[in-house]
Amino acid sequence: MDRYAVIGNPVAHSKSPQIHAEFARQTGELLIYSALLSPIDGFAMTVAEFIQAGGKGANVTVPFKLEAFELGHRLSDRAKAAGAVNTLSFIDGVMIGDNTDGVGLVRDIISNLDFDIKDRRVLLLGAGGAARGVMLPLLNESPASITVANRTVARALELADHFSSQGRIKAMRFDELAREKFDLVINATAASLGGDALPISVEVFAENALAYDMMYGKDEMPFLKLADEAGARIADGLGMLVEQAAESFFIWRGVRPDTIPILKQMRGY
Ligand code: NDP
Repeated sequence: MDRYAVIGNPVAHSKSPQIHAEFARQTGELLIYSALLSPIDGFAMTVAEFIQAGGKGANVTVPFKLEAFELGHRLSDRAKAAGAVNTLSFIDGVMIGDNTDGVGLVRDIISNLDFDIKDRRVLLLGAGGAARGVMLPLLNESPASITVANRTVARALELADHFSSQGRIKAMRFDELAREKFDLVINATAASLGGDALPISVEVFAENALAYDMMYGKDEMPFLKLADEAGARIADGLGMLVEQAAESFFIWRGVRPDTIPILKQMRGY
């Protein structure tokens, strides 16, 4: 059977094996998908050993997405724009890097949450790898504007500058945000990981806004709590996780799985 894996450190908590097992069952594809713990300083070796053992592809998670980008012999446009790789395919000795995180987010927002991004004012909180990875897929949906705000303002400026030729993008400090309202507010910071609140107010949410936290599986998510108090619709990042997995599965197997059943199963309804 063809072998696939998610490579990370830590990786035991990853839901990817469960998701891909369900995709394989649903589509009748014969494959094994496991979680592979890589030493922090041994990512390239882990990948080489996995290929040697018959690996056909891998998802890459924290903290190796940048290393996977360096390792890829060929990179998709999405990977180049993101500056990071979360999906590797090993084909005839060639390592191909792609990035499905951004398309996963956009698909969750548009298809699962039925929210049209076109002509909407988007606020992207954070300027790390995840934020960068979603910029191009968001821009492809022709939003009215994208505003990037980050704790370290220089990184927000850099990110906005990098994509400035492709849409109306600006960078702001958190404390400047109260002056404007946004239709779609995406938390791409790691603040929810530690249960930290962001220094933003309920004022940023426009009427009928959607608030999206890329984090998932946490009981306490201060960003979503704030958005809820503001009357916004709220969504966590589980849908993004499942959608990015489906896109990886499609790259590897040429078959697109139905994401709705696994999302329902994972949400417990
Ligand atoms: P990075 O480490 O690359 O970036 C972290 C970002 O969070 C930076 O912008 C950083 O700001 C900011 N940040 C961290 N802590 C705080 C805090 N306490 N207050 C304010 N800002 C903070 O991480 P990633 O971009 O890779 O990941 C970000 C989040 O997205 C994570 O929670 C991750 O789990 C999630 N994610 C979810 C996915 C999914 O499928 N659902 C896929 C990918 C990521 P600064 O620059 O100032 O340090």
